[in-house]
Parts: sequence; structure tokens; C-alpha cells
Amino acid sequence: MSEGRKRVSGVLKHIQKKAAAIDSNNRMDDEILKLLFENGLMSLLAPRDFGGTESYYEASIAAEELAKVSAGVAHSAVVHNMVVDALRLFGTEEQKTKWLKELTEKKVGTLAITEPSGGSDVSSLKMEAVKEGERYILNGRKTLITNADFADVFIVIARTGEKLTAFITERDGVTVTKLNSLGMRGSGLSSVGFKNIEVGEENILGGEGKGLKVALGTLAPNRIPFSAMGLGIARRCLELAVKYAKERNVFGRKVADFQGIQWMLSSLASEIEALDKMIKFSAMVADGKDLFEDGKDVTTLGAMCKLKASEIAKMAADTAVEIYGGHGIISGSPVERAYRDAKLLDIAEGTSEIMKVLVSRWVLEQV
Ligand SMILES: Cc1cc2nc3c(=O)[nH]c(=O)nc-3n(C[C@H](O)[C@H](O)[C@H](O)COP(=O)(O)OP(=O)(O)OC[C@H]3O[C@@H](n4cnc5c(N)ncnc54)[C@H](O)[C@@H]3O)c2cc1C
Repeated sequence: MSEGRKRVSGVLKHIQKKAAAIDSNNRMDDEILKLLFENGLMSLLAPRDFGGTESYYEASIAAEELAKVSAGVAHSAVVHNMVVDALRLFGTEEQKTKWLKELTEKKVGTLAITEPSGGSDVSSLKMEAVKEGERYILNGRKTLITNADFADVFIVIARTGEKLTAFITERDGVTVTKLNSLGMRGSGLSSVGFKNIEVGEENILGGEGKGLKVALGTLAPNRIPFSAMGLGIARRCLELAVKYAKERNVFGRKVADFQGIQWMLSSLASEIEALDKMIKFSAMVADGKDLFEDGKDVTTLGAMCKLKASEIAKMAADTAVEIYGGHGIISGSPVERAYRDAKLLDIAEGTSEIMKVLVSRWVLEQV
């Protein structure tokens, strides 16, 4: 059994029990967070010395399984692991020792890039960090930040003159306002205010002026585990739709006996199979194992995965709601939650339009 699947196996039944409440209350459950840490799901992308796997493949397996039961919980773990990964990729030895121990044991992390004025054009963000001696003073607002409601550690991208810089900071003094989102509820999505927040220069991640590199370099491979959440949502929808179609009688027959329904299910199953292989292959490339000498870079593969995962998850949720008929649109139905969750895949970690921009950069170079 893969390490990601092993780690997730002990928590799924607990999350399953609480998933509907996490969604309806838009509130993460403390016990679930504790279980995620205890089972190594918050250290998946950490260095091995910190109990990690350093593997996007394993992180993707875990993200898929978590998203089958709760997209909100899955997204929290994926974003936290992105913070852990940023420290693994760009942190100094001192920063790894200081922050990774806590981030793999009990403290939740988040990556704050997006601002009220926009998220797609990262290079134009406005939040300022002004140098005063050996410290920087941060002022500005971030929004749509996953985990921020309960995060202890923030990696914040701010402007230092012409360039951007990534800072690691604790929650102290930061103001957080929770947002009431359509889907992936419970993942702590919030707006965050920074007013005269002081950060020591030892907490610059990746070097001064390297914030864009840290942000984009972290997002690119982490779009693969993020896409695996779409795969998890899609698989769950297919399972639910098949089960319902085999149980429900209409016109004296099972819904599953109608060829029109069988064709919907077979199209979906084929798309899911293709997505599964695309994500696994891309994760292996990101892990440094390009088995087929494909040669595509991780940014392109991550963007392709995210585009397809959003499409397939939406298709799956749409198919499942259709097969459930009227019972699929009632609040509390499992397919109704999936329908709301799937749409957010299009937007978080870069919109589908931005994914197309990234893929087009690669495709236009090919001929
Ligand atoms: C569930 C969720 C979780 C999130 N978590 C985080 C987080 O933890 N940290 C964080 O920093 N951010 C997070 N975000 C924010 C997310 O990254 C941004 O919403 C996203 O990058 C888009 O930014 P925006 O919403 O400001 O849209 P805008 O950038 O204002 O874009 C508006 C529209 O214009 C389109 N557009 C923009 N540029 C182009 C272009 N060149 N070509 C074609 N169309 C274009 C966009 O696709 C979009 O449709 C999250 C968002 C969601 C939904």
C-alpha cells in the first residue's frame, strides 16, 4: 500500500462522520485537525527527517482519498502541505528547524498571496513590507486565504520596493475575518489584515526580492495534489450515482437499466480513468521520475492537471445530481455538496483561465 493511502486510512471514517457538519457549519473540527497531524497527513511534503514523504505522488493519493469524504478537510491539508513544501524547497536550515517541527506536529500553516484587488496577477500585488533596521513592517490585506481562520503560521507575499518578498510570520496581531463560501466549507477561508506587523529579516523565505519565485515555484507542483482533490470528488460522485441508479425504480425499471444513464456513467468513468493516470504520471514527474521521458515541465503538467480535474469534477457532480433527480438538489444530499465543492476547483490556486495561459505558453513553443 502506498504511504499516502496508509496515512489516510486511519482518519477517513472519522471525517466521514463529521463531513456534513463541517460543511453546514462552515467550521473545521479540532479533533479532525488533531487526527490529520497524528496520522502524518500534515507532514506529507515535509523532508524525511521531519516525518515527510517528500512526494507529490503520496500527497496526491492522500488528497484524493480525503476529498472523497470532505473537500473542505482535503483543501486544508493540501494548503498546509503547500506551506510545508515551500519551507522544504526554499527554507534555510535554520528556518526548517524552527518552523517545520511545529508545522508537522501541531501548527497549521497557510500561504497568503491573493489580495482584494486581485489574485491572478500576482506580480501586481500591493501589500507593503518596509525595512526598518533588521525588521520589516507589513501593512495590507489578503483575501480568500484557506486555513486562515485557524492557521498559526502565515507565509505572506508582500512588496519590498519593485520586487516581491515572502515572509514567514505567526498569527499574533493579524486580524482574520472568516468568509462564507459556496463550497470546500470548513477550510477556514478568510480575509486577513496586517497592520504594522513586524517580521525579522531571518524570516524572509527564499531571499529578499524572490517572493514571486517562492509563490510560483510552490504553486506549480502543488497543483498536482490539488487536482487529486478533483479526482476524489469525481470518484465519489460516480460511486454515489451508480449506487443510486441501481437502487431507484422508474417506469418499472432500475434507473441503471436505461441506456441513456449507462452512457452518462461510462463517459464519466472513462474521464476519471484518464484523469487518474494524468495525475499519477504528473506527480511522478514532479517527484523526479519521468518514466516516459515526456519532457514537459512541472508547471505545464500541474496546469493541465488542474484544468482537467476541475472539468471532470464538475462533470461528475453534474452527472450525479442529474441521476439523483430532484433528490440531488436538496441541501444535505451528498451530491449537492459535491456540486458546490467542484466549482471552487476552477478558482483556487489559480483560475482555469490562468491555467490555460500557462499551458498555452508551452503549446505555442512546440511548433
Ligand atoms: C476556495 C478558494 C481557496 C483559495 N485559497 C487561497 C489561499 O490559500 N491563498 C491565496 O493567496 N489565495 C487563495 N485563493 C484565491 C485564488 O487564488 C484567487 O481567487 C484566484 O487566483 C483568482 O484571483 P481573483 O479571485 O482575484 O480573480 P481575478 O484575478 O480578479 O480574475 C477575475 C477573472 O478574470 C480572469 N482572468 C484574469 N486574468 C486573465 C487572463 N490573463 N486571461 C483570461 N482571463 C483572466 C480570471 O480567470 C477570473 O475569471 C483561493 C480561492 C478560492 C476560491
